[in-house]
Parts: sequence; structure tokens; C-alpha cells
Amino acid sequence: MRVYQETEIEIPNDLNLTELLHTTATPDVRGDTVIASDNLTDRTLTLDQLRDRAGRIAHGLKRKLNPAEGDRWAIIVPNSVDYVEIFHALLWTGGVSCPINWALKASEIGRALSVSQPRFVFAYGKIISKVNEALAIAEKELQKKGIAFQRPQVLTVVERVAGYPHVPDDFFEATKLAIPHYKHTEDHVASIHLSSGTTGLPKGIQLTHYNYVSNVLQLYHHDPSQFNSQTRTVGFTPYVHIALTTLPLFLGPWTGMLHHAMPQYDLETFGKMVSRVKPTTFQGVPSVVLSFANTDITNRYDFSNARIINTGGAPFKEDMLDRLMSKAPWKTVQLYGMTEASPYVAYQKYDETVPKGATGKLLPNLQAVLKKPGTTEDAPEGGPGELWLKGPNIAKSYVFNPNATKEAFPMPGWFNTGDVCTIDANGYVAVVGRTKELIKYKGFQVSPIELEAHANSHPHVIECGIGSIWDESQLTELPTAYVVLKPHFKTIDEKRQALKDIHQAVDSQVSGYKKLRGGVWNISALPKNPTGKILRKELQGRTLGQCSLP
Ligand code: AMP
Repeated sequence: MRVYQETEIEIPNDLNLTELLHTTATPDVRGDTVIASDNLTDRTLTLDQLRDRAGRIAHGLKRKLNPAEGDRWAIIVPNSVDYVEIFHALLWTGGVSCPINWALKASEIGRALSVSQPRFVFAYGKIISKVNEALAIAEKELQKKGIAFQRPQVLTVVERVAGYPHVPDDFFEATKLAIPHYKHTEDHVASIHLSSGTTGLPKGIQLTHYNYVSNVLQLYHHDPSQFNSQTRTVGFTPYVHIALTTLPLFLGPWTGMLHHAMPQYDLETFGKMVSRVKPTTFQGVPSVVLSFANTDITNRYDFSNARIINTGGAPFKEDMLDRLMSKAPWKTVQLYGMTEASPYVAYQKYDETVPKGATGKLLPNLQAVLKKPGTTEDAPEGGPGELWLKGPNIAKSYVFNPNATKEAFPMPGWFNTGDVCTIDANGYVAVVGRTKELIKYKGFQVSPIELEAHANSHPHVIECGIGSIWDESQLTELPTAYVVLKPHFKTIDEKRQALKDIHQAVDSQVSGYKKLRGGVWNISALPKNPTGKILRKELQGRTLGQCSLP
């Protein structure tokens, strides 16, 4: 078996994330280094304040609720300084954080809760009725499966000023909780993030303290020049996304990077924040980076400190690089990762020029093999092949889901990413395709199965398969439905109306990023394998010309 690997670093397996918070990458990271701020209140948080406040909240939680080690806590709170404090406080108590996007619909939050089955819920006060509705849905869903679910205790994160969550004062104890220590951090889960994996509905990925500490050290040692106390970033991706967990919560405090949180993205607010915070580094999926290239935002706001744009999550367009370079003095840095890898796998170094389409080299300690898709046979040298990974940052399991875990690890220790990659003679990794049934709309995961369930329950539908259309102008996939209509729709007008009804019905049941932006198309039969399984890959990456209008 041909194994690809770059360098090897030492990674301690007895350093947990609370202990990491009390150490720094370099001596120039001091207690008064500001590591977080947020755009609604201009509140800032220094490293010492985070250590103090998280420790006192942890003590308060211990006193009030007496949580056990390993208890799961859902966090349904928008991006803010308080989110950072809560996440660290939970870890400090030995808890497992289960972040859920607060902007989701009640049914979607309900499903997420039924996956992680938390004992406690930290909920943003403004959406408390939605959270209660979601809890009832989770209870019902688990009951149906015969799983007893004790309703979690809900703690409300109040609103101090509009749109700004705030941990109430009575959560704080006067002194900090003792810092926990684990002999084997690989046995201690720190978070459960949702991801579809290679197939099916979203599952809960269990990431351990060891996984996160590893990814922090891997990234830092790969290229220290990108992560230090001169680095200032503005983040608009929800913190519930794995990329916005590792970077602002763990790597940031350890290296003294400042992360400025925006609860929601809009271009103008973002521009104002840029003028105020003067970031050196931007993180965004290509579809967002496109807006820097295609608007006059860089002329109207102060981008003079801009040095790096980190972009990943989807392929990047070469000609966009030229347009971006003419806008500000920054360099584009490509990266590749996924939730199951905590999340970074390959990262372009600042002083490196990568070949066209590549994302950088593998991070230290990661081993990779390329397999012929769907088999355990090696692909030809350099690929393309399905990328399997082994390393300290790779999750071990999906929570309450041994079958999904078994499927994700076709060989002991080797995780099948479901991505098709090449690795050239110099070690540069490029993502060239995907075997997994996942749609990504502007960096957000959309599960085809979830949308199919909504469409299939519509009375006009015999059967539906969800795929995607690639939108070149926005550099993103668009979720798209292919529907076999009931036979009584005869004329073109009747069929068009039926498709419109289905479109409206599905869109009304899901969050914004899952909407069927690629449309609802009539298809005479869905592509299937001999056993009747829908071949969803054949419904992905189509262009409009390949869809049949009724
Ligand atoms: P997530 O777990 O939401 O971060 O999604 C991870 C998936 O996004 C990967 O398995 C890839 O399919 C895709 N992805 C991430 N980075 C890239 C990239 N640089 N180029 C192409 N696809 C990417």
C-alpha cells in the first residue's frame, strides 16, 4: 500500500483543551493579548479574561447542576464572545459540547438534538420557544425508535442588548474550577459536530481533546507564520462549523490570534468591521471570497492590513485569484479539510506557490492513501483515487451509530473521506471529485436524504432524488430535486404547477441554505443500481442543459 506522508511532530496525548488554554505557542502571547471581540457590542476578551471567566462559569455550572464528566451540552447560541466562554466552560467541567446552528428550523434543531441527546442545553433567549419545540420533536423521534430520552435542562443565555447573547451573572462563581487532567486525551470526547459523512442523514462526529490538540499543533507547525499574535481575523461563518471551532476557540488563544465574531454575514456590516478591526486574515468559502472580487467593497473599506485570504470547502477558480490580487495586498491560501479531521488536512503555506487546483501539502503526522473508488485496491501512483486518512486529528466514531462508524473506516484506523484526490510527486493534494452523497451550498452541508424525505411526502410525488447543479457564477453547488410525478399531471402547465407546488412545500420546511436553489425538475425515472438504490452521484454536478423540463 502506497502511503503518502509529510513530516512528523510530537503530539502529547495528556494535554487537554483546558490545559492548552493555559499554555501558549510563544512567550510573546501574554495574558492581556486580546483574542476575541464581537461586532454587536465591541466587547473584547483577553486571554486572561477567558481563562478567568470560563473557569468561573465552569465552577458555577458545577455548583448549580453538578454535571458528570462526559455529559453532553448542546450550545444553540449565535457567534459572540460569550459563545467562546461557554464552550470553554463546558470543556472545563469535563463536558462534551454539541454545537447546533441557532438559525435552523425547529424540526432541524430537533433532529440535531436527537442525534447528540444532550443532558443540558444552552439556548439563546431569543429563540427559546423554538428550542422547546425542537426538544418535543427530538423526544418524539427518539420515542419512535424506542430510546428513552430525559428532557435536558435548558439554560437560557439572555440578551443584554438586541441580538447579543450574554451569560447571566449568576452563572459565575467567585473562584475558578480546578483544571481537569486526563492521562489519555484520546479517550475524552470534547465535541459532537454534525456531518453527513459519506451517506445518509447527518450524524454526530465525536472529536476528542486529542483530535483538537493535534490539529492545533499540526497546523501551527506546518506554517507558524500564519498563526501568531499579529494575526487578526473577522469570522462570519457560524461557530458551529468545525473550521470556526478549531481556529477561534483553540488555535486562536494558544497563538494569540484575535478573532472578531460576526453573528450573521452581510457584506456591508462585514466591510464596516474590516475598517474597524483591520484584519490581516480572512476566512471564507470561495462563494464568499467571490464577493470580495466582484464588488467594490475593497475600495470602500479599509483593507490595508489584509495579508491572507484562507479559502477552502470547495474548488477555487483560477481567474478569481488574479481579480482578488488586484483588490488588496493579500495572498490566497488554499486549504482542505472536513469535520471528521477536526478539520484541517492540507494547507498551503504562506510562502508556497501551489500547482493549479491544489490545496497544499498534508499536515504533519497525517498518512494518506489513494484507493480505487469503492474498493480497497490502491489507485495508480498519484491518483486520482478515493482519499483515506489516518492520523491523530481523525475522529474515531459517530455517536450512537456503530454502523456509520464501521462504514467510514473500511480498514482499521483508516477513514474514507469520500473525496477523490490526487497527490503529486511533491506532495500537493488536490480535490478533484467526491464519491460521497453530500451537497455543499456555500460551505454548508446539505444531506440529500433529508430533502428527499420532505419531497417524497408530497402528494404529487411518486419518487424524488436530490442532486445538485454547479453554479459557476457563484462557485457553489445548488441543491436540486429530480422528481417522478404522479401520472395524472398530463399537460405541460399541470406539470409545471405541480413542480412549483413541490418546490414551495420543500423550501418552506428547511433552513435557507438547504432550499432547492437548483430547482425542481421532472424526470421519467431515477437512476438506480440493480438493487434499487438511487444513484445520487448521477444527480450531482449536472448543468441546466442536462435537466429535462416537462
Ligand atoms: P465539512 O465537513 O462541512 O467541512 O465538509 C468537508 C467536505 O468539503 C470535504 O470532504 C470535501 O468534500 C469538501 N471540501 C473541503 N475543502 C475542499 C477544497 N479545498 N476543495 C474541494 N472540496 C473541499
